[in-house]
Amino acid sequence: MSSVFDDLVGQEHIIDILKGAVAASRTGSNSQEMTHAWVFTGPPGSGRSSAAIAFAQALICPNKGCGGCNECQSASTGGHPDVEVIRTEGLSIKVEEIRELLTRVAWAPSMGGWRVVVMEDADRLTESAANALLKAIEEPGTRTVWLLCAPTLHDVLPTIRSRCRHLQLRTPSIEAVTQVLIKRDKISPTMADFVARVSQGHIGRARYLATNELVRSNRRVIMQLPFQLGSLAEAYLAAQTLVDMATTEANMTSNERDEKEVEKLQEAYGKGATGRGIATGAAKAVKELEKEQKSRSTRMVRDSIDGALLDLAIVYRDVMLVQTGATESIINSDMRAEIETYASRVPAHIAVHKMGAILEARNHLAINAAPLVTCEALMCELARK
Ligand SMILES: [Zn+2]
Repeated sequence: MSSVFDDLVGQEHIIDILKGAVAASRTGSNSQEMTHAWVFTGPPGSGRSSAAIAFAQALICPNKGCGGCNECQSASTGGHPDVEVIRTEGLSIKVEEIRELLTRVAWAPSMGGWRVVVMEDADRLTESAANALLKAIEEPGTRTVWLLCAPTLHDVLPTIRSRCRHLQLRTPSIEAVTQVLIKRDKISPTMADFVARVSQGHIGRARYLATNELVRSNRRVIMQLPFQLGSLAEAYLAAQTLVDMATTEANMTSNERDEKEVEKLQEAYGKGATGRGIATGAAKAVKELEKEQKSRSTRMVRDSIDGALLDLAIVYRDVMLVQTGATESIINSDMRAEIETYASRVPAHIAVHKMGAILEARNHLAINAAPLVTCEALMCELARK
């Protein structure tokens, strides 16, 4: 029988634990295996939230996560009354949002089983938000299961993580990602192999790249940047190009979604309704929504720039590999000629330094430095002889 856990690529080591917990949750006999607070950690793209959502499905499905029944389907699309998936639209999760969430989940589960809250970015909880959440997690006898996701355990406040069971996801192997893309997403073997390699096991990024020609061509432009930086003027231009491309890429996904959300909200208020009270209420709600959307798109642009910087870092990693004689292990084999020329021209310690500058820029972005300024500083550093 197929199971929601089948889709978790390269995570065999946690699937047994999750299945054990699901079984224990039915009998209620083994409290060791089933607990009501979990943290899923793993590098970006390892599928933290997919694992948490699969677990949520299995907990509420009558067949322990068949993937095909109504419960499983509605849990994964956000339509199940007992499963709530919290995706952060902004850069942080604030205490007001947690308080609101706690009021919503205070009710007993509607189907009599479990109520599951999946929090995709528990690392973005502000301290006061985390403290509010802590109270809920500590509450005894509750039927609510908390599934928190974060890059590492250190990203979660110690008070919270000490009360959670920890599951560490692995980065799936390139081979495993390739196979899933071929089998599940019907992507051609050549393309699947290419995107799996350049995405370094990040399955979401790999699929996105495979199915999106614009993103692939943007990537080619960005990967060429290091070889074209001759002057400061070119460095500033390169920074602008990178930010513009990341912005277009992010807008491409968000514009359509934003419009749909506004439309849905207006429908909820009765589109075309003329009562003054209704009109003011609707306008206010739309304004609120637009504010949220703006903050989400800021975050998407940042994520997209971060992805581009990661690609650049891989170019320098390849340069370093060539310099140490490990030419066969390079990732960007489609750029082999440029990489080899560059590697012979630039001393090894400079390549190391430039790779460090990229990682530093990523750290700056992570703490909300202005994207264009960060990229300009980086490109000037990369242009330096
Ligand atoms: Zn099911």
